Amino acid sequence: METPLRWTIAARPTARELVPEDYALDSHPAQAPLRNGDLRVAVLMMSCDPAQKGWMENAGGYAAPTEIGDVMPAMGVGRVMESRAAGFSVGDLVEGRLGWAHELVVQASDMRKVQDEPDAPRLALGLLGTSGLTAYFGLTRVGVPQAGDTLVVTGAAGAVGSIVGQLGKIAGCRVIGIAGGPDKCRWLTEELGFDHAIDYKAEKVKQRVRELAPEGIDVLWDNVGGQMLDDLMTRIARKARVVICGGIARYQQQGRPPGPSSYFNIVFKSARMEGFLLSDFTPDHDIGRDRLRRWLAEGRIVQRDEVVEGLENAPQTLMRLFRGENFGKLLIKVAD
Ligand code: NAP
Repeated sequence: METPLRWTIAARPTARELVPEDYALDSHPAQAPLRNGDLRVAVLMMSCDPAQKGWMENAGGYAAPTEIGDVMPAMGVGRVMESRAAGFSVGDLVEGRLGWAHELVVQASDMRKVQDEPDAPRLALGLLGTSGLTAYFGLTRVGVPQAGDTLVVTGAAGAVGSIVGQLGKIAGCRVIGIAGGPDKCRWLTEELGFDHAIDYKAEKVKQRVRELAPEGIDVLWDNVGGQMLDDLMTRIARKARVVICGGIARYQQQGRPPGPSSYFNIVFKSARMEGFLLSDFTPDHDIGRDRLRRWLAEGRIVQRDEVVEGLENAPQTLMRLFRGENFGKLLIKVAD
């Protein structure tokens, strides 16, 4: 390989859009020898996640803090080049919080070994990784769908939302996806088996939901927040479950949005609203992976993704998420 490169955080994008100047490209300084428990990893593929913007902002919550000058963190898959950790050998494939770099030194305790199979990096970062497991545990443990329920999913054509809808169909729900643009909506209904899709950029969401779900929404999966959540909460059914997974509508805004003005429907409908983090279910992740792997093998669920080649394209690629330019999972390939 030529000189290994890495992207570091140059500025915090708090309350604004990401810009290319938020990142600085440099060549790796010589890396110190490994300490006990460390791995040197060659990065193969990186995931694009809306949460990465929050990590750059040190927005609080669950993630390890970042400093200006740190390598830009990203979930990724890599191959072990050198190991000083029991149970990890040179050549093993690992997944975990890596970063925008050709090579990194990480603690083995933060890494998980991945089965070496065709398409391993794509699957480990998509259906069998954060996106798929978030969909699986959020829906089955928080949304608790029953056959015949109406499930509405916002951000439906994204990495998580596209899997939530497919899992809803497996559970016997009527699934309505909300996404931006006719192509995404067509993809949801024609290829993923959603019953209906609403283009929130062109249609009146509240009115369309009233037409498509006159009995109300039983499970509302929200990736977006803001006005969209407020509107949909006016349409929940009795005993509805409102699953708060994300709030991408506010990720580029100043401050916190006001709470949904329709929140009192939670009382009128004896409903439940609950947030969750994927890490709440860490002990059970392998159970989720096994189920998702089985449904994938049976052809009952698919992963759509786009793989952008080249570490040098990382900043521009991450920005595409916030412009809605992804169908399903967006990935960056760093090496074969
Ligand atoms: P994603 O949905 O693949 O990508 C972002 C999508 O959000 C875009 O394609 C765009 O789709 C939509 N979007 C962007 N800006 C928007 C806006 N202002 N209003 C409405 N929609 C907007 O991302 P993902 O990885 O699947 O994540 C989805 C959500 O889940 C995120 O909020 C993420 O933070 C959250 N999440 C939570 C957990 C957890 O443990 N709770 C774990 C993983 C992810 P359109 O073209 O349709 O607008």
